Amino acid sequence: MAAGRLAPTPSGHLHLGNALAFGAAWLSARASGARVLLRVEDLDRGRARDDVAAAQRDDLRWLGLDWDEETAPQSERRYALDGIPVFRCVCTRATRLYLGCFCRHKAHDRGHWRFDTPRGPVAFVDRASGPQVFEPDEDPILMRDDGEAAYPMAVVMDDHRDGVSEVVRGGDLLPATATQIRLYEVLGFTPPTWLHTPVLLGPDGKKLSKSHGSTELRALRTAGWTADRAWSVLLPLLGLRHFDPGDFDAQKVCRGPFVVDEEGRVSPHSG
Ligand SMILES: [Zn+2]
Repeated sequence: MAAGRLAPTPSGHLHLGNALAFGAAWLSARASGARVLLRVEDLDRGRARDDVAAAQRDDLRWLGLDWDEETAPQSERRYALDGIPVFRCVCTRATRLYLGCFCRHKAHDRGHWRFDTPRGPVAFVDRASGPQVFEPDEDPILMRDDGEAAYPMAVVMDDHRDGVSEVVRGGDLLPATATQIRLYEVLGFTPPTWLHTPVLLGPDGKKLSKSHGSTELRALRTAGWTADRAWSVLLPLLGLRHFDPGDFDAQKVCRGPFVVDEEGRVSPHSG
């Protein structure tokens, strides 16, 4: 059966950008009769917090987003590199950036495992933005030196194991989709459909994050916002007037990016 998912990372409270992506994921799934799964992406145990995960569930319910099943959090799952072409990389971030990484041509017996990403163009369709072509030029870390799985591998395996057939998420992840599709290919998995929501930027022009605390749903709720008010800000970006799955049309989702100011007003990003 078709399924979409809400997959919050409990290292920071949900902000308007998260609400936009999760709202779109929920509306899209409910529009087609797909199940909605909740999966806590707490792979990074150093930063994931149980109290934040609980607050995120509360924020999702406040938004009116429900789910049919909560699947196992990433911290309880096991991941293996079987079948994936990888090489070990001993570079620091700085040496990789400035000198380049040549580890794929060596046979290190230590270091992080990186995906030996097959090169060449990857074509896919984004349900909002249409046909896309990206050339993967990254070899992301799939497993750390200490055996801890990393997000790029975990999310692909989780979505496959959870039977997720539609992925709806923030537009900042659009370019990474090509590398993820390569992972689906080498693992022999069927990729989901993709829909990327507009990126929301803070007044400083940077992607909305913890540093823009005033756009956190917690802060907005404290300031007296209702869920209706949050949706009145977000729904136009999804091409909707009402919070109603029956009206949802992926092709009407805006491209962005948009800027959110301190009062929660949204405007198109100029330049
Ligand atoms: Zn390297």
